[in-house]
Amino acid sequence: MRFVDERSQVMSAEELVRYRRQLIIDGFDEAAQLRLRSSTIAVLGVGGLGCPAALYLAAAGVGHLVLIDDQVPEAANLNRQILHWGTDVRASRTKVQSASWKLRELNENVHVDARFGHLSKDNISLLLGGSDLVLDCTDNFESRLVLNDFCVGHRIPLVHAGVEGLSGQVTTIVPGRTPCLRCIFPRPPRAGRELPILGAAAGVFGSLQAAEAIKTVTGLGEPLLGRMMVGDLGSGRWEEVEIARDPDCQACSRL
Ligand SMILES: [Zn+2]
Repeated sequence: MRFVDERSQVMSAEELVRYRRQLIIDGFDEAAQLRLRSSTIAVLGVGGLGCPAALYLAAAGVGHLVLIDDQVPEAANLNRQILHWGTDVRASRTKVQSASWKLRELNENVHVDARFGHLSKDNISLLLGGSDLVLDCTDNFESRLVLNDFCVGHRIPLVHAGVEGLSGQVTTIVPGRTPCLRCIFPRPPRAGRELPILGAAAGVFGSLQAAEAIKTVTGLGEPLLGRMMVGDLGSGRWEEVEIARDPDCQACSRL
């Protein structure tokens, strides 16, 4: 990982007030806050997972947020995609535009870079270049695998989550150290029917992704490396599933 060391830099009086309640967390300090400020985190998919994740990353003071999405918000998104409001649907803003203006209002210290487009092998370097960490907030495996292979190839940490109904999962991938998405999902499900989803479930797992990103960038706590947290809000039951690298993985076995 190549997070810039900004220990020589100082925080403004406004930042010291804004982040006061996280600066007093055990294991978090001004050096950690400066690491967040110097980091570039990309959020792929500004939907059910990406909206809460981006909100918490902006609130926490990530210096540079890159938002990538190719859609325009619709009324049927509003039960869960909490950065998109009725006013954005009526104005036909893109999701990256809709999210950007609210994140800038929330925290003007954060540079928000809105990149409208569909991720492909051809444009991924352009869309994700310069990112220190990426959040997988997509809803399809086609994009996920393109993202996975790019992150593995460029040794960029990737925080994966998925959600359906009231259930979800989250894990943090550090290429060469943990399993990658191809190790975890050797036979990815095909895209098909419209999935049920409760907004609160997307909120929980998107927030977990933000926490994992903050932990990975700053060194706080223990990221979910080689383990997947699986939860069901319906039953209130959570479990930690150990996941292993595939020695024959076509993406990461040579790392
Ligand atoms: Zn792998």
